Amino acid sequence: MGIIRLTTQEGKPVEYRDEIIGQGGLKDVYLSPDGSYVVAFFRDPLDSAGKERLKAIVGPYREGIFAQEGGSYWQELFCWPTGVVEHGGRIGIVAPAYHQQFYFEHGSINNDFLGIKGKEKEGKWFASASNRAKYLAPAEKGSWLTHLQIALAISRAVRRLHAAGLAHSDLSYKNVLVDPTRGKACVIDIDGLVVPNKFPPDVVGTPDFIAPEVIATQQLDRHDPQRKLPSTLTDRHALAVLIYMYLFYRHPLRGGKVHDLDATRDEELAMGSQALFIEHPQDASNRVRSEQLRAAELPWGDPTRLPYTIAGPLLADLFRQAFVDGLHNPQQRPTPSEWESALVRTLDMIQPCANRQCEMGWYVFDNTTQPRCPHCGTPYQGQLPVLNLYSSRHSNAYQPDNHRVMVWNGQSLFPWHVNRKIFPNEHLTPAQRRRVGYFQLHQGEWYLVNEGMPQMVDLANRREIPLGGNVKLTDGSQFLLSKEEGGRLIQVQLVGG
Ligand SMILES: [Zn+2]
Repeated sequence: MGIIRLTTQEGKPVEYRDEIIGQGGLKDVYLSPDGSYVVAFFRDPLDSAGKERLKAIVGPYREGIFAQEGGSYWQELFCWPTGVVEHGGRIGIVAPAYHQQFYFEHGSINNDFLGIKGKEKEGKWFASASNRAKYLAPAEKGSWLTHLQIALAISRAVRRLHAAGLAHSDLSYKNVLVDPTRGKACVIDIDGLVVPNKFPPDVVGTPDFIAPEVIATQQLDRHDPQRKLPSTLTDRHALAVLIYMYLFYRHPLRGGKVHDLDATRDEELAMGSQALFIEHPQDASNRVRSEQLRAAELPWGDPTRLPYTIAGPLLADLFRQAFVDGLHNPQQRPTPSEWESALVRTLDMIQPCANRQCEMGWYVFDNTTQPRCPHCGTPYQGQLPVLNLYSSRHSNAYQPDNHRVMVWNGQSLFPWHVNRKIFPNEHLTPAQRRRVGYFQLHQGEWYLVNEGMPQMVDLANRREIPLGGNVKLTDGSQFLLSKEEGGRLIQVQLVGG
């Protein structure tokens, strides 16, 4: 088989095997001989605006994100095109091959009866209760912890796109690869990015993720000022839907309400002008009719069994903001950065389930004194230490940070727990990525081992806790973790038992 050798418009050599390995909606995909990148040709000719857009995406926009300090951080979260080629009258893009973790290792149940082993882990496999129940091998499913991590990775990627002045415009489970076994996600199909007021969108999006205002105005002429097109505000809707679907395996707007007897019109209204959250706190008219669900859709398909509030108070607030306040009011929708912050803090509120057979394995502490796993009903056993985080402000007084850490055996403390001014994102230095302490359950008592907090003090007796030392967690105990500005004080609360 022949190898084709070309030079990109940016002047870099590329080569690929002359055999189509995959076909997307718009492109034919070829693989480089070493397998490290692909060349994808658009089947249809591009107009000059389309060519300009590709140039901008592989050029200035790519450099703005990747050619900076910390740029390598984004290589895991985006499959970003690196060059543009032209061959035989067709335009193509060069892009990194997907990481190995985004291909099924086991595939489906019954010795992979669907034959999906080795195929891409398209997000839609993991966003539906019946796909998970009927098809996926247990080893592919991941836990609730890894699904929260996936939601965090996607929020982070979208936050970075928006910060660069870009909108994805077609964010969906088709354009995000996920790895639930490791909690990873990667945004793909970057070549369709929208630059507001410069490169308009060429698709309206993927059903299920298109914002209501886009559907409600789609019959208007493209140039009608009332027509709403994909933008960062519609990305915010798609992001909220994606997060909801990866955590609850159902769609937030597909409930029991019938808007019209004509199916097409009904769909237009249900996803457009009449869209209504199935878990709307006041308006119950679009509740899921659980008697209509198939066995494979349970329990996730029934929000009365697993309501959105099991994601904890911080995420529940954002779901209400997205699907109640902001559903028809785009400016009210949570930003990707708000999701990122709430997800980081929610990941500190998670507990492993004591039931080893529990399908989801982890759950968010529900702020009650007798926590239990919402997935399998197993109560938390023993005493659960909850750390309430405070930090110093200008006045020297310590103020609550609306951030709690639910301790579990082997859990770590990181620099972002020690200082309010540190946030776990692309700006962390290598030193800030290292853990500085961990928790251990020993003969029924909880201990915090200090590994990297040289200023740690037990406030009850003003005793310094040296590096390598440890301290027992008792109800009401207080520890200062750092004396620097923004340094945290933690107050221990022992729950249950
Ligand atoms: Zn459980």
